[in-house]
Amino acid sequence: MHPKKHIIYGTVFSVALYFLINDIGFVGALIIWFSSWFLIDLDHIMRYTLKTGSFSLVGFWKWSVELGKIWNKKSQPEKKAYKIPIYIFHGIEPLIILFVLAYLFPVVWFVLIGVMFHMICDLIDLYQRKENVLGKLSIIYVLIHNINKKHYH
Ligand SMILES: [Zn+2]
Repeated sequence: MHPKKHIIYGTVFSVALYFLINDIGFVGALIIWFSSWFLIDLDHIMRYTLKTGSFSLVGFWKWSVELGKIWNKKSQPEKKAYKIPIYIFHGIEPLIILFVLAYLFPVVWFVLIGVMFHMICDLIDLYQRKENVLGKLSIIYVLIHNINKKHYH
């Protein structure tokens, strides 16, 4: 999903929670907001840096847009032949880790809420674009899926 949409939805979500649930408070809402659009998608930038050695945000943006354009031209059966990118913050596995951490450090509950909201937005977006929803639902699935698949980027 486009970062702009994540910021808009994340803002509406965290503001709504702030007004609807007293216990959340301003700092809690702020952490939820920050986690819902920024924190979780850092894995996209980390992946770019790992692949290219570059820390340039402009470079990252151009790279993503370019690869997206090429990807969108491919047919559904064609897409199936390729590896799915691994995003280490997207999936049920990082959610489980956050869940465990939340028991140790209660502030992590806010991160978990923001990240879960982001995940729901991503999954709906993938579904609407007829992409493989499982690709962002489980890292283990991606690892198994990628065996013997063509490299994309
Ligand atoms: Zn995402």
